[in-house]
Amino acid sequence: MPGRNIRRPRRDGRRDGNRDGHNESFSSGHNASHLGKTMHTSTADAHPDPRSGNMDTTRYTQQFEPRTSMSLYIDSASHLHHDQEKNLVLTCPHCLTVSHITPAAVPRFEDLQLYRPNQVGLVYMCDACHSPIFLRFTVRAYGSSRIELSPQFTEVERARERFNFTYVPEDVERVFREALNCYTHGAFNAFASMSRRTMQAMFGDLGEAGRLRLFDELNAVRDLADIQPDIFAKMKSVLFGAELDPTSPVPLLDGYEAGILLEVAKDLVYEAYVRKGKLQQAILVRRFFLDETGTDITPLSSAG
Ligand SMILES: [Zn+2]
Repeated sequence: MPGRNIRRPRRDGRRDGNRDGHNESFSSGHNASHLGKTMHTSTADAHPDPRSGNMDTTRYTQQFEPRTSMSLYIDSASHLHHDQEKNLVLTCPHCLTVSHITPAAVPRFEDLQLYRPNQVGLVYMCDACHSPIFLRFTVRAYGSSRIELSPQFTEVERARERFNFTYVPEDVERVFREALNCYTHGAFNAFASMSRRTMQAMFGDLGEAGRLRLFDELNAVRDLADIQPDIFAKMKSVLFGAELDPTSPVPLLDGYEAGILLEVAKDLVYEAYVRKGKLQQAILVRRFFLDETGTDITPLSSAG
């Protein structure tokens, strides 16, 4: 789905944290979107749940699936069998590295047979930091000797969205931190509301000239990232809607749109504060060393 992707023209590390942050895939190796999320397949699923992952390279439907391709099940001795086990890789919510995970706790076969829940929880261990990672699977079928699970899974905990707040004023930081928390917890419309409040805090801090600059920056992001017009209109309404009309409601976003809004909002905060702060700091340091070493060249005006 190339048309749905937001492209990141700059991957020079200027965004801290989560550069490959919400990669929740089992590294199927293709279909990775430029958002960092992995949209697992190119099937009709246009707005995949950003919390879900997939162990398979394709999300085929059950009816087309050969009966022999069963890949994930719990046997009657409560052992987990998984033919793609060695490919089990995701972003650890604790150490934030993309790591292989190993099953650590599997529910008892007898208990599952007794209660027959639609979903089961498995605990894995991160091979990098050995922290527990909780995954939820949907049960496909209860057999007499095995319980078949869908290879798709939901991560119960997600890696936190992070941002470098060094140069960001306190009023803006307070609301944007909450915005990121909302996103991390999948509260996408709360995230949208807090994004609007973040912009309002920035407008208050930067004044009219700053507001116009942010508006230009948003348009620049649209061109750079090639955001779909309907999604861009929503972003604009979320971020700037209240400026044009204080009663304008915040539009509803799904997970996919929220992911794009996240990148756009980070970019705006970065451009408004972090980039400027880093640049000023770098120039200050350079001036300091010039003064220290005395290699500064005397300006012509004062030389004669
Ligand atoms: Zn880890």
